[in-house]
This record gives sequence, C-alpha cells and structure tokens, in this order.
Amino acid sequence: MRASQFTFATLKETPSDADIISSQLMLRAGFIRKSASGLYTWLPMGLKTLQKVEKVIREEMNAIHCQELLMPVVQSAELWQESGRWEAYGPELLRFKDRHQRDFVLGPTHEEVITDIARNLLKSYKQLPVSYYQIQTKFRDEIRPRFGVMRSREFIMKDAYSFHIDQPSLQLTYDDMYRAYTNIFTRLGLDFRAVQADTGSIGGFASHEFQVLAGSGEDDIVFSDSSDYAANIELAEAICTSERPAATQPKQNVSTPDMPTCEQVAEHLGLALSQTVKTLIVEGNPTEEGTVTLVALVLRGDHTLNEIKAEKLPQVKAPLTMASEEAMLAAGLHKGYIGVFDLDMPVIVDRSAAVLADFVSGANQPDFHTTGVNWERDAQITAIADIRNVVEGDASPDGQGTLQIRRGIEVGHIFQLGDKYAKALNCAVMGEQGKPVITMMGCYGIGVTRIVAAAIEQSHDDNGIIWKTSSTGESIAPFDVAIVPMVKGKMKDALNPEKGDPAMQLAQQLYQSLQVQGVDVLLDDRDERAGVKFADLELVGIPHRIVISEKNIHADNANETLYEYVNREQGEKQLLTHAQLMQTLAAHNVLKSNS
Ligand code: ATP
Ligand code: MG
Repeated sequence: MRASQFTFATLKETPSDADIISSQLMLRAGFIRKSASGLYTWLPMGLKTLQKVEKVIREEMNAIHCQELLMPVVQSAELWQESGRWEAYGPELLRFKDRHQRDFVLGPTHEEVITDIARNLLKSYKQLPVSYYQIQTKFRDEIRPRFGVMRSREFIMKDAYSFHIDQPSLQLTYDDMYRAYTNIFTRLGLDFRAVQADTGSIGGFASHEFQVLAGSGEDDIVFSDSSDYAANIELAEAICTSERPAATQPKQNVSTPDMPTCEQVAEHLGLALSQTVKTLIVEGNPTEEGTVTLVALVLRGDHTLNEIKAEKLPQVKAPLTMASEEAMLAAGLHKGYIGVFDLDMPVIVDRSAAVLADFVSGANQPDFHTTGVNWERDAQITAIADIRNVVEGDASPDGQGTLQIRRGIEVGHIFQLGDKYAKALNCAVMGEQGKPVITMMGCYGIGVTRIVAAAIEQSHDDNGIIWKTSSTGESIAPFDVAIVPMVKGKMKDALNPEKGDPAMQLAQQLYQSLQVQGVDVLLDDRDERAGVKFADLELVGIPHRIVISEKNIHADNANETLYEYVNREQGEKQLLTHAQLMQTLAAHNVLKSNS
C-alpha cells in the first residue's frame, strides 16, 4: 500500500473524552472515529487490524469444523417471546417496531435465531454434533458505554453455537472450543488466562471466560499462587479453615455517635476491622400475597458482599435488591446501626463471620454498637453460606496455595447452555430410540472489536501502539513493514521515473519485492517531513521501519547499500546490508525464511 493513497487519520491531540489509553491511542492513530455514544466507525487503518483478528478467529473455528453462517442483525420479537427473553432481557435489548407495527429487536446475541435455524435444519441424531459461527455486528444498549470500543453499544462479536444429542457430546465440543480459544488468543499475542466463570441464572453446566490481563480491566480475576486454579471473582469460592474460639467477653453497648460504618467503629474502639460485622438487609422472596420480605446478610467488616453468590441463596430474591430504608425502619432497623440479634427474619452469615467470637455489631439502636457479641449466646444463625468476595491472601479453594487478584478484560466466553433454549423453542431431533430428544447446546463468544483495544491496553509506550509478535510469529499490526524513502524535493518529482530519485527507486524495488513475498508493506510516499512520518508510524505501531537514504547507497566498505532499520519494540537504529535486512525480517517471521 502506498501511504499517499491511504487515509492516515492520525491526530496530534488526544480527544478529551477518551478515557483509557487504548481508546486514546485508537483515536489518535486513526483506527476509529466516534460517531455517537458507543458507536464507532472503523477507519481503513483500524479495519486492517480488525480483519487480521477475524482471520485468525476464522482459521481456528474452521479447524474445529465449526461452520460459518450469517444471521440477521434484526430479529423478530416472536422468537424472543418464545424463549422468554422478550420480558427477561433488560433495557440493553433495543426493541423497536417496523412500519406494520410489528416488534423487532437489534440482536445483542443470537441464541434464539440459531435455535430457530437448528430446529428447522436438524432432524436426526445422525446430524449431531454440529456447530455454527458468525462474525457479525451486535447491539447492546449499554447503560454506560465507555472505554472506546471496549464497551461500546455496537460491536463485532464472533458467536458460535453447538448442538448435541447429550451432555458428553457437548463436553467434547466445549473442550475443542476451549483449545481453539487458547490458540486464537495465543496467536493474537495476548497475555490471557482462562478462568472459571459463573453460569448465572441459566444454570448451565460449565463456563469459562478468557481474560486479558490489564490494569484497566473491569473484571477481578482470582488465581492461586501454587496451582492452576483461576476464576472470576464472581464465582471464586471463599473457604474458611479456622474454627470459632470460645466467648470471653460479655455483650455491652457502646456509644458510637455518627459512626455508621465498620471502619469508623473499629477505629473508635481501637479494634481490627475484621473483629466487626456488618449486617446488610436485602429483599427475600415475596410472600404469596406479594408482600416484601427481608433477609439479613452478615459479613465481616473488612469483607464485601458478592451479589452473585447472595442472589443464588434460596431465601434471597433475584436479582439482588437492597431493602429500602422505609422497609428497614418499618422493621425497627436503623441503617449503619443494625445488629445481628433480635432480627425477625432469616440471618444468613458468611463463613468468615460465623467463626468470630467477641465481635462488634450494630446495637439495633441509633448511635450505638455492641461489643463482645457471640453467636448462639447472643444471636442466632439461620444459615452459614459463602456470600463474600475473596480477598488476596485467602486460601485457594482447591486447597493449594493462596489467592491473588488481578484485573482482566473479558475477550471471550464459552458456556454450556444445556437445554434452556432448545427446550423453550422445541429444538428436538429424532433420537436413536426413535423418540424425539431435545438437543443440548453450547454457546461461545469472542469480542472481536474489544480484542483490538485489549491488545493495545497490554502493549504501548509513550509514542503509541506496539503490536507484539505472538509466540506463533504472527502480528495484527495494520502493516508489517513501513519503507520510508528520504527524497530530495517533492514526492511527485521523486516518483517521476525521468527525474529519478535514487532513494525512491530503491524504495520501490524493496516495496515490490516484499509485496511479492506476501509481506503487508507500506511505502510512505507522503509529502511530509521525516519526523512527522516517523511519529505517525510509531503511533500506529508498524513493527518494522526501513529508511532508505541516498547517502547509504553503495555506502559501506564493500560498496554495498545500507538500510536503516528500526524495530518498533526494541527502538534502536541499525544500518543493515540487504542480506542482513532480509535475515532480520525472516528472524521476525515477516519473511518466510528459505531455510
Ligand atoms: P461483559 O461482562 O463485559 O458485559 P458479557 O458477559 O455481557 O460481557 P457475552 O454476552 O459473553 O459478554 O459476549 C461475548 C463477548 O462479547 C464478551 O466476552 C466480550 O468480549 C464482548 N462484549 C460484550 N459486550 C460488549 C460491549 N458492550 N462492547 C464490546 N464488546 C463486548
Ligand atoms: Mg454485558
């Protein structure tokens, strides 16, 4: 590609609303332009990278015999009514009417459409297992679009769906997908982890997220320091190995005016925060008449509630809803001073709070707390449960080592759905016994556009993006190589064969020979100062830059021409002969070496 014929939309200034480094760099490097909140155009430079990501994904999906198809973005509401998600899916689902007043949605995901296809296509168990994928635009009306294409409203997803006669068959395809995802993210040069994930309200059998490690990630992921245990914090189990000591103190009320938080009370009393408990009041399942009921959740003062775990408790209403202040007051409870005793509701105590003795809780009286509280003697436990988020240093639930927490960006998610959609939409095939069998399903997503942002989050410097070459020797940089001829005067003259500029002639030769060898190469023939070109190429992150100057032609002792080579990641300039240049490009896998 000639740079003069290619849109370089680089910006000097960082757009003021770009919130994280990847979004700043994608805007500045001319990869994307914002159209409206959560809506972006992919400019030619960005699209080149995006298409390289898609190529890797396609190759790995095809390699496990997942077949590509393409479903409509606009989906009929009837399918969503059949699955029950027309009501259940929140406001992220964009619903609209056509001219005939029929309801439609913009697809945030495609379980309904693919299950409709499958129930038509699949007749017999002999056709199973089968899996399909597409790479396509999704729309989710995210409440807070942010971080550029990382959390946009319109984005590109690779979504795949598999159909099976039984669970063991689903497990085999799931394992294939797990391996394919591992290959994809490895080939894309990402530092990622596969972590166990919550199966949510669907209650599927298994689920893993693929998380790119980055400080700007929105997920907390948990690892053991001594085993391969890794899970999203939503799911990571908090185990408690200690036992409750015997009570030694009497229960006593102490004055704690204007101290509604455990931190304030612990400091005031000179106690560790871990000797205090907080009691959170949430809504329980409503009575048959629809009256709101309450449930108390008790946690150690230094721990935080895990809402996903809490809403799975049989006593607790899902989605988790904190009790209103009025409901609490009606039950005689004062926010900030709620005690664990005399509660006329189920009291669910976190495992770590249940082993405390002589602890501090609210006194059920404004401006007072109670010290020396002991379970059973002073307060009753309805149930002990794991309802907190793990913290660094907790014991790993697999019994090996302690837990560490890092931030992650979710780039992929694989999920065993079971029969949820197949049952709702009656996707059945004739089984081996001659009776219809509801199929089992898996679904497998990759955030294609999000990957580009995640890669940049992981790899950049003050000058711009650095596209890492993966351990498989691949790169998703928009171009592999940039050639910069240092010409005298205007490019137009240098390009004129009659006037003939030696640096340009050599640059064109190299450009053509690299193109013939399948290298994605950019000839920077823009009429710009060298400094501007270098800054642009560094911002965009072209991995290999070759500068050709007349002074280096026939320049070394053996009368050989030298090429100035700079590797974007390593930075230093080298003067290389043609043979050395080719060796260097081959060593970086840009050229397939002949050996
Ligand atoms: P998140 O928790 O980040 O909202 P999700 O669980 O809703 O993700 P899935 O429904 O599993 O996501 O979608 C598959 C993939 O699509 C995700 O792993 C993620 O990479 C990507 N994705 C989801 N929402 C967005 C978005 N708003 N913008 C860009 N990519 C997204
Ligand atoms: Mg989401």
